[in-house]
Amino acid sequence: MRTVRRTISLSARHISVCVVGAGGAGLISTHELNKEGHSVTCLESEKDIGGTWDYQTNTRSSMYPSLRTNLPRNLMAYQCFPFGPNYTGDMRRYPGHAEIHGYLKAFAEEKKVEVKFDSPVENIEKVEGKWEVRYRGGNDKFDAIVIANGHYETKHVPDFTGHFDGKILHSHDYKSPKDFAGKRVIFLGSA
Ligand SMILES: Cc1cc2nc3c(=O)[nH]c(=O)nc-3n(C[C@H](O)[C@H](O)[C@H](O)COP(=O)(O)OP(=O)(O)OC[C@H]3O[C@@H](n4cnc5c(N)ncnc54)[C@H](O)[C@@H]3O)c2cc1C
Repeated sequence: MRTVRRTISLSARHISVCVVGAGGAGLISTHELNKEGHSVTCLESEKDIGGTWDYQTNTRSSMYPSLRTNLPRNLMAYQCFPFGPNYTGDMRRYPGHAEIHGYLKAFAEEKKVEVKFDSPVENIEKVEGKWEVRYRGGNDKFDAIVIANGHYETKHVPDFTGHFDGKILHSHDYKSPKDFAGKRVIFLGSA
């Protein structure tokens, strides 16, 4: 029997897509879908792009002031947009968080990635073959959805048996080593 292989290509027809979130994943998804000629709406709940790296305005980010990347900048870059040496004056190979935010902003500007800010998505459901998206300030229908809402803004605190009198802090809430000066500290988890 002959097998006929069929490749379904998104570019074969142009569709409407809603991208939820304008962090690193939402920005590149929006750009790539735009490039293919689709009609793309990127909805972001905050007032700026960058998600995790938007330390200034995104109060849900797990970022902390002294964070430097754990990857060199050239490995973190999008393939279509090299990570130049300087967006904020931080030229280190493993830069601080502001430099990543600067890079993402430069990418969005250069590639003309449009984002609707202050638009948290509240509900998505399928109605008569289309995805109906309700967000603050609007309600629209789309052929497809990209969920790029990130993974790190909600902390998971495991249950412990026993009792501990000292300070317990989840890494999401960590901002400074000041409170731990002179103390014996144990870290649970090592990502
Ligand atoms: C402290 C920390 C350090 C890290 N360091 C590195 C590193 O050095 N190198 C590295 O490669 N990766 C690092 N990461 C991983 C980091 O998560 C990724 O680099 C990247 O930021 C993930 O992008 P994202 O777009 O998936 O999610 P996010 O950056 O979280 O973006 C998600 C976006 O979705 C928005 N959103 C969420 N819900 C809704 C909604 N309902 N409606 C509309 N918008 C919504 C959010 O506001 C946010 O802007 C680090 C992560 C953390 C937490």
